[in-house]
Amino acid sequence: MLLIFLALPLVASSDATERDRQSMVRTQIRARGISDKATLEAMRNVPRHLYVPAAQRRFAYQDRPLPIGYGQTISQPYIVAFMTEIIGPEPQHKVLEIGTGSGYQAAVLAEIIDQVYTIEIIRPLGEQARRKLEAQYDNVHVKIADGYYGWEEQAPFDAIVVTAAAEYIPPPLVEQLKEGGRMIIPVGSPFQMQHLMLVEKKTGGEITTRSLMPVRFVPFERAE
Ligand code: SAH
Repeated sequence: MLLIFLALPLVASSDATERDRQSMVRTQIRARGISDKATLEAMRNVPRHLYVPAAQRRFAYQDRPLPIGYGQTISQPYIVAFMTEIIGPEPQHKVLEIGTGSGYQAAVLAEIIDQVYTIEIIRPLGEQARRKLEAQYDNVHVKIADGYYGWEEQAPFDAIVVTAAAEYIPPPLVEQLKEGGRMIIPVGSPFQMQHLMLVEKKTGGEITTRSLMPVRFVPFERAE
């Protein structure tokens, strides 16, 4: 009897996360206009609940950011999907993410893209994400550093995804973008309205920027 009681919730809970995830993609992501097949598939595949602290697991598929410790947050699922779709991810791409945090956005990128490089400034967060990502993927590389300077040895990148709000677009990141490449970055002051900006480097090197939507991200920190 006892065994049955113990076993049931386990089975139910793994089915429930699967169901919650499919419903998240349907109601929060597809319904809001995300249509890139690879992005939707990646959002269906990555177990978001395993990238949040245990105490947050039951909220993992809700339509909002969640605390991940150290004053940081995992972004709302829709924002993760939006930032993934907008860079036009292709398997043969090389992508850089600034702000590994929980590792969730990096995992979504790694489902689609062959080479994912991600930088986190808070060591314990970076190390924890590295452990989770390395257990699952062999195409994700995590570095603990100030992402302002990008990852010069691995540049140039087809795409750069910045997940912390910078006061201005860091010039080294623009430098490390390939011609034809795209960067998505929230820009603005920590306590004011921020804008999600799309930066494109055209063939020949011309830079264009476009504001896509108002957002609220944790601040882009600088190493002392
Ligand atoms: N992409 C993350 C979002 C985490 S929140 C996820 O999917 O969970 C943003 C993260 O950016 C935080 O973990 C914060 O510590 C990190 N960050 C802030 N400034 C940074 C910088 N200069 N370099 C690297 N990471 C930075």
